[in-house]
Amino acid sequence: MSEKSIEDLPGVGPTTAEKLKEAGYRDLMSLAVASPSDLAEVAEIGEGTAIKIINAARKEADIGGFETGDTILERRKLVGKLTSGAKALDDLLGGGFETQAISEVYGEFGSGKTQIAHQLAVTVQLPRKEGGLEGQVVMIDTENTFRPERILQMATAFDLDPKETLQNIRVARAFNSHHQMLLAEKIAEMAKDTPIRLVIVDSLTAHFRAEFVGRGALADRQQKLNTHMHNLLRIADIHNAVILVTNQVQAKPDTFFGDPTRPIGGHIVGHTATFRLYMRKSKGDKRIARLVDSPNLPDGEAVFSVTKDGIRD
Ligand code: ADP
Ligand code: MG
Repeated sequence: MSEKSIEDLPGVGPTTAEKLKEAGYRDLMSLAVASPSDLAEVAEIGEGTAIKIINAARKEADIGGFETGDTILERRKLVGKLTSGAKALDDLLGGGFETQAISEVYGEFGSGKTQIAHQLAVTVQLPRKEGGLEGQVVMIDTENTFRPERILQMATAFDLDPKETLQNIRVARAFNSHHQMLLAEKIAEMAKDTPIRLVIVDSLTAHFRAEFVGRGALADRQQKLNTHMHNLLRIADIHNAVILVTNQVQAKPDTFFGDPTRPIGGHIVGHTATFRLYMRKSKGDKRIARLVDSPNLPDGEAVFSVTKDGIRD
């Protein structure tokens, strides 16, 4: 895996790098697939220089290749399953939340998305035989809803050392979508020397939704979300980690998506997430999760409860 950054490319000085980043060209891949005229414009360089930069990026970027089915099967054997604390929900997911994949949990306010995020931040620290991945957690919190007190309750319920459990969770507040994307890039750095097995982005879409308003901003929003999701997916693959992202549903029908139960982010988020769980409230502390989309599992539903101890059957 290439670790070079765009500053390492010939012809990219600090000023050019800054302009490129501002325009959304943050990694080699985005430059490798850029058009020379676009690049020339945003970086205020000649097209000749732009072409040189693009060619250099193409040489350095890991554009991927073809693998045989048996190689992929070998890698799939490493896939871990992380317990949610509720057997019915784990069964729905074929044994738990998978590593090397992005799981998207979407639903209305109060449906339990943040509770699941907290729960996984605890269970991922459990031994493998108890459904954990013996790993640490990074959380990008965009709505200021991380509560250490809640982690303490859930850790105690699993007989984990509460203080140690908190020490294995790194939380960063993201103040806007740009900051959120930068934080995700930072995780890749961090994961090099920390056994991170769970990355949470709660919420994936709130900033994007608030900042990119209207029809004219849609293409830009989707392109940025796409980059963000693919950065997360790379972390999932390289570090054999579970990626959990939360998403809201459209509060009211808008011009693009008439269905009020549709998640935000449209097909970009939908196609990049490997598992999509639609959550809704039921009676009392009961919640219903529906598996909406999966490459290898049947669609279905599971009922679980949100209790003081966490997610349970
Ligand atoms: P969202 O989907 O908006 O992220 P949350 O995951 O924050 O929703 O869910 C909030 C709900 O979780 C509360 O309304 C409550 O039902 C439940 N909940 C939160 N904390 C506790 C707790 N300590 N004990 C039991 N239930 C809780
Ligand atoms: Mg929430």
